[in-house]
Amino acid sequence: MNEQELISTVIRPEIRALTAYKVADACGYVKLDAMENPYTWPEEIKAEWLKIVHDAEINRYPDPEAKTLCRILKDYNQIPADSEILLGNGSDEIIQLLLMALPANATVMAPEPSFVMYKQVAQCLGLKYQGIPLQADTFELDINLTLAAIKTQQPEIIFLAYPNNPTGNLFDSDAIEQIIQHARGLVVIDEAYAPFTDCSFIQHLSKYKNLLVMRTVSKLGLAGLRLGFITGGNFIISQLNKARLPYNINILTQCSVEFALNHPQMFATQTKTLRQERARMFLQLSTLKDIRPCPSAANFILFRTAKDMATDIFNALKKQGILIKNLSPKKGLLSDCLRVTIGKPDENGAFIKALKNAL
Ligand SMILES: *Cc1c(COP(=O)(O)O)cnc(C)c1O
Repeated sequence: MNEQELISTVIRPEIRALTAYKVADACGYVKLDAMENPYTWPEEIKAEWLKIVHDAEINRYPDPEAKTLCRILKDYNQIPADSEILLGNGSDEIIQLLLMALPANATVMAPEPSFVMYKQVAQCLGLKYQGIPLQADTFELDINLTLAAIKTQQPEIIFLAYPNNPTGNLFDSDAIEQIIQHARGLVVIDEAYAPFTDCSFIQHLSKYKNLLVMRTVSKLGLAGLRLGFITGGNFIISQLNKARLPYNINILTQCSVEFALNHPQMFATQTKTLRQERARMFLQLSTLKDIRPCPSAANFILFRTAKDMATDIFNALKKQGILIKNLSPKKGLLSDCLRVTIGKPDENGAFIKALKNAL
């Protein structure tokens, strides 16, 4: 048997058709491509954390239900008492878990452009995926198109990133409520960028049975620890929990996130600075000729360049040591679009300077 024969025997065709999720090598660059928090911790806090890591019993299995961590997360995120939470190895794992639990041939729906994992995981699992284009000029939901698609396709699950990635905007909340009301299946509001906005659907959880809210600590500043969670009614969370692998949150992640979230002021200060920097960056981008930034409620800004210039500008930035994300090759509504993550003030300054050189 040759390699090709073996592959076609053991790998499903939908997986063979996929391309792997690629992450650019950022070595040596000012890294403004991945929505990371640029700030680390003061030395005295790191020293306290090391004591906790020192005492972690890595010879034992971690608490499979991560009870202490769940309690701290519920508290930190002001989750209503009657909502349950389920943890994942990043919210990416939760997307996978949600889709694994769906019936065969189920339909997954999401606006486009949005977070690529919804489609990637759906395709990997051989589910039907239906993307609904956002409005071209504003990246707002096309509510009529979406409601019509819900009616004809009856999706088992709809993902709405709020704020949306890669566009950065918050969809109209009335439109989202209409979607929740008309959906026959689940609606997941993906609040990965919650630290950078005051808007949330968490307070709607008690109102809608089919509503789930997903969050992560990644964009807050703990991307390396891999922890996300989803919250909603116990009747659905307890079902999903059966599909979760028992020890999916390792002990170092459990104790480190518990420790980190006991320092809320540190994160509040960091995210406040990032929000201020976002406003400053938006203004600066707005003044540049042929650059049109989109209003953002997240820790990044999507901006449009002059026609067919995005890739040249992206490469010119790279030559100057600045790595951002080039979305233009995705075509469609993202043609001529680049996305920059908000970094430290000096990194943002270096980016603006390099961008001016590149224009
Ligand atoms: C970054 C991101 C995630 C993934 O978060 P992890 O917890 O790091 O897996 C999920 N949803 C959206 C919209 C994101 O931008």
